[in-house]
Amino acid sequence: MSVPEIKIPGGGDVSSLLGVDLMAQARQEAAIQTAEYAPGEQEALVGQIKSLLQKENAVLVAHYYTAPQLQQLAEETGGYVSDSLEMARFGNEHPATTLVVAGVRFMGETAKILSPEKRILMPDVSATCSLDLECPVDLFSEFCDAHPDHTVVVYANTSAAVKARADWVVTSGIALPIVKHLAQQGKKILWAPDQYLGGYVQGISGVEMLIWPGSCVVHEQFKAVGIRALAARYPDAALLVHPESPAEIVAMADVVGSTTALIQAGSDLAATEFIVATEPGIFYKMKQAEPDKLFLEAPSGGVGGSCESCQRCPWMGMNGLRNLATALETGSGEIHVGEDLRQKALVPLQRMMDFAKTLHTSK
Ligand code: SF4
Repeated sequence: MSVPEIKIPGGGDVSSLLGVDLMAQARQEAAIQTAEYAPGEQEALVGQIKSLLQKENAVLVAHYYTAPQLQQLAEETGGYVSDSLEMARFGNEHPATTLVVAGVRFMGETAKILSPEKRILMPDVSATCSLDLECPVDLFSEFCDAHPDHTVVVYANTSAAVKARADWVVTSGIALPIVKHLAQQGKKILWAPDQYLGGYVQGISGVEMLIWPGSCVVHEQFKAVGIRALAARYPDAALLVHPESPAEIVAMADVVGSTTALIQAGSDLAATEFIVATEPGIFYKMKQAEPDKLFLEAPSGGVGGSCESCQRCPWMGMNGLRNLATALETGSGEIHVGEDLRQKALVPLQRMMDFAKTLHTSK
């Protein structure tokens, strides 16, 4: 796998852009949002949010990795729970004039890029993603400029500015067919920002790519030794792995796939026990679909099989009922994307969506 060294002003590699402080701040805010509710508080917040959604002609879309209360509320109010692109698509097609996006910032930006006429609110606009932080547009543009003969393919987990610099946007579900399609046209590919997903796509497709060295702080932490120990305790369990995980974890998997594909695998496979290597927020939909099956968190510590994963995305955790109610009440947390930037970012996003349609129609 070709992962170049990116020179960071001031030294260090791209992981130094993440910063311990940013992670700590996110965890602090997540702790506030997920702090136990006082008696009656949760019910009161849910009631308040439901009436505000109506009053503001708003719909709630939540990512699979958000807290179960948010996913449940989205479903109860005619909203939607999904992956980032489906969230944006649903919001685009829904008649509501305000979309409330429970997730991380690039998801709010994607919704705005696709639905500029709508107001996009988020519980906390500072909820970000390590992949986004590790791929700042200035450094990334320099890198692209240094390889002008490459087609630039970026994962959806990037800022609007990085998308605007790209030729194609991809999700984990569609990355493989798009890379194969480009390779068939003789294109050289520059991939960003997730090195593990990039390595996975490269390994399956056999297409050599130049890969930006970013990573997801959650998936990067899964450890083979811990998963093996847990698998020894549950020998019949199937292992479901998201391809943002390191190669040695992917190599152990029974199924590798996007969030949507992993939820589907939980239903499709005959197994009744699963070890799941992705953010545990996904368990809400997995258990909803298969209440009689057992879903176990893949350990991330690598020591022993008895520990449960402590891996929660700190930024997804920043979404809660409390700040969701505030966003709807006050209009705080609105996402803005400048029109020039929006139009540029729409081009590679639309390219992906058009390509996806050709896949569906050729099935
Ligand atoms: S789980 Fe990973 S990829 Fe998803 S938002 Fe969090 S840091 Fe980003």
